[in-house]
Amino acid sequence: MYDKDNVFAKIIRGEIPSKKIVENEYAMSFYDVNPMCEKHALVVPKGEYENILDFARRASAAEQAGFWDCFVKTADSLGVNGEFNVMANAGVGAPLFKQSVFHFHMHIIAGKKTPECEKMVKCIMCGE
Ligand code: AMP
Repeated sequence: MYDKDNVFAKIIRGEIPSKKIVENEYAMSFYDVNPMCEKHALVVPKGEYENILDFARRASAAEQAGFWDCFVKTADSLGVNGEFNVMANAGVGAPLFKQSVFHFHMHIIAGKKTPECEKMVKCIMCGE
C-alpha cells in the first residue's frame, strides 16, 4: 500500500527541500542526494504510484504525458548530449539495486562515475 509519508511525497508537497530541475502539472524532477555519477536526476510523477508497474497500469494519459515531458526536459537540461542511463528499481527483491523509496521514480544518470559507483559496477559485472 502506498505510504503518503515517503520522502518523495514530502518533496512533492514542499515539506522537505530538494534541488528542483523541472516541474509541470503532473511531474517534477530533482537531483539525487547521493549521486552515482556527476549528474544524477530523479523524475517523479506527482500522483501516488508505488513503482513503475503501478504507474504504467493506473496513471491517466495526461499523467503519463506529463511524466515524459518532464523526463525529456530534465534529460535535455543535464547538458550531456543525450548520453545517460535510465534506471527504475521495483521492489525490495530487485536483483541489482533494490527499490528504497516507494514512490515511482526514474533515475537519469550521466557524466563521470563516482568512486562508489565504479565499485558497484565492478561488483555487478563479476556477480558479487
Ligand atoms: P531507489 O533505491 O531506486 O528507490 O532510489 C531512491 C533514491 O532516492 C536513492 O538514489 C537516494 O539517494 C535518493 N534519495 C533519498 N532521499 C532523497 C532526498 N531527500 N532527495 C533526493 N534524493 C533522495
